[in-house]
Amino acid sequence: MKTIAFIGLGNMGLPMALNLVKKGHQVRAYDLSASALEKAVEHGALACENAIEACDNAEVLITMLPSGKHVRELLLGENGLLIHFQSNLLFIDCSTIDAETARDLHKVCEEHDALMLDAPVSGGVSAAQTGTLTFMCGGSEAAYITGKDVLSHMGENIFHAGPSGAGQVAKMCNNMLLAIHMIGTAEALKLGEKNGLDATVLSEIMLASSGKNWSLEKYNPYPGVMANSPASKGYAPGFMIDLMVKDLGLAMDNAKNTDAQTPLGEIAQQLFSQKQQRGDGKRDFSSIIELLS
Ligand code: NAD
Repeated sequence: MKTIAFIGLGNMGLPMALNLVKKGHQVRAYDLSASALEKAVEHGALACENAIEACDNAEVLITMLPSGKHVRELLLGENGLLIHFQSNLLFIDCSTIDAETARDLHKVCEEHDALMLDAPVSGGVSAAQTGTLTFMCGGSEAAYITGKDVLSHMGENIFHAGPSGAGQVAKMCNNMLLAIHMIGTAEALKLGEKNGLDATVLSEIMLASSGKNWSLEKYNPYPGVMANSPASKGYAPGFMIDLMVKDLGLAMDNAKNTDAQTPLGEIAQQLFSQKQQRGDGKRDFSSIIELLS
């Protein structure tokens, strides 16, 4: 079992850290929010005064922070963590951030003899709680081999996507596709409704036909079709519109920089941003169906 510094105990980070505690690791936790830290301590993590203290004697450092600027600031800002890294520390950033920042951080870690994985996740809060996340890792083979065991205590699918930044690229591609098929699913269900079809019946038909997709199967956006989907709970998240807008922003910036053609990604970004501007940023992303009413 390892000594693990865990920084960022929000909706995702807290249940991830607690799964590590359950597996017997010593978790040295830190968050800016005192209440988040308290919850971690209640379940067996060790509270630290700051991120530097959390890294004392840690073999692994895991971060689960909102965006690239938070991760960069934590490592390279004033009192940044990087100079406190012990050699051979494995730094795993599970936040969803831009691939360029991830690659920059890999470079500085290498200069400090630390291993790094960019390892964003898919699966959301419920998978974080049940320890069934999918991790998409970018980094060297050595970092992947070192980190895989720890990641397997928080998730069930651990992929090595490629070199530094590849995990973030995989996550960005996945979430752009998710945005697009959620909108497509919502459109199909609303078109059926306009023509008098029952949404549950139409969903069953499309699930047995070529329209089958993850949004339809696991996350139906039409209220009442799936008892446990956010749609049936007033669109309480789940995965917030704010986060989808952030992820689509990362994908569209990257598409511009790499000269990739992503016309549907652009439309998805416009539609989710429109929904966010209506004050719905904190609601679940499947509420995009309301824009079609
Ligand atoms: P969150 O806002 O709930 O949690 C972020 C936590 O980081 C907060 O508790 C905040 O206090 C803490 N924090 C911020 N700066 C800090 C600092 N300098 N030091 C210590 N703590 C700091 O966010 P979340 O929903 O847990 O998401 C975290 C990351 O996971 C994001 O990058 C998000 O895009 C990604 N993600 C989220 C989901 C989801 O469903 N929520 C799914 C997949 C990926």
